[in-house]
Amino acid sequence: MKALRVHGPKLIKLDEVDEPQIEPDEVLLRVKYAGICGTDLHVYRGAMKDRVKYPAIPGHEFSGVVVKVGSKVTWVSEGEEVVANPVVPCGRCVACLSGRPNVCVNFKILGVDIPGVFAEYVKVKGDKIYKIPKGLSLRDAALVEPFSVAVHSCRRANIEAGDVVVIIGQGPIGLCTTQVAKHYGAYKVITVEVVRSRLELSKMLGADEVINPLEVDPVKVVKELTNGVGADKVIETSGAPQVLNQALNMLRPAGRLVVVGLCFEEVKFFSYPIVYKEAEIVGSRVYLDEFARTLNLMSKGYLKPEPLITHEMPLSDGEKAFKILDERPGEAVKILLRP
Ligand SMILES: [Zn+2]
Ligand SMILES: [Zn+2]
Repeated sequence: MKALRVHGPKLIKLDEVDEPQIEPDEVLLRVKYAGICGTDLHVYRGAMKDRVKYPAIPGHEFSGVVVKVGSKVTWVSEGEEVVANPVVPCGRCVACLSGRPNVCVNFKILGVDIPGVFAEYVKVKGDKIYKIPKGLSLRDAALVEPFSVAVHSCRRANIEAGDVVVIIGQGPIGLCTTQVAKHYGAYKVITVEVVRSRLELSKMLGADEVINPLEVDPVKVVKELTNGVGADKVIETSGAPQVLNQALNMLRPAGRLVVVGLCFEEVKFFSYPIVYKEAEIVGSRVYLDEFARTLNLMSKGYLKPEPLITHEMPLSDGEKAFKILDERPGEAVKILLRP
């Protein structure tokens, strides 16, 4: 089969590789649409050297059709349109046993630790499969993964009806979070982003107010928009090092900050607002059981993947797609590859 493989930092090409062989508890899927995510870009750039073994097939966001079913998998049939949760927890560590497999000590995910979905076929465990509900296309369903990240972060934020929610960063995850936060009952969603085209998209997808921090002070604007009180919840999706300070300062007393964006740099911030405000800071990593919930929301049309899909390309154009995201990040939001 054809597979897009990373051979080293910024070295990616289409290779001919063996089709995966399934075990009795596994299912073989024909990948139909596969989205490129920030994690894939890290793999491409060589930033995950400790986990990734070259040559590696990246990719974990996808939809596909069942082509082969292991003998122990009785709940899935050939020809069904499905998505799959790409996270493979160990099931026996302290996190897994306490019902938090998303922070498993032995965390594995498709496209990083095991072969990913930028290939014609991928195999997954049968219990990771979710059938795509009626009314949801394979193309739109390919975005169930980033939307599930957003659903999980909004649940971690405990968004309540009437909350003012600030979402920092309007990349793919931020734009998904904007839509989900509205649906969770936020009365005002304020988004912060430096790329102008993404701010426009953000408004179109439901943001009530948008802030460009290159033009105005986001803390000041959030205070003005909340009669000096601050936001009930702030969700940080950008991973930019300086925003945690801003996030804490725009939070209302006893507010909650959810950190989703990954930042690999050391961050400096004043800690006293945490004490003065009794601010809560929580992390949010991938998702728990949110796939089914997210598929329901998507199939009803409450969440809109289509405006996020800026490019659709054949798998053979994979190198071009990675170049766009690596060199001209403002140009694309979500690129879908068609294996
Ligand atoms: Zn992803
Ligand atoms: Zn575990």
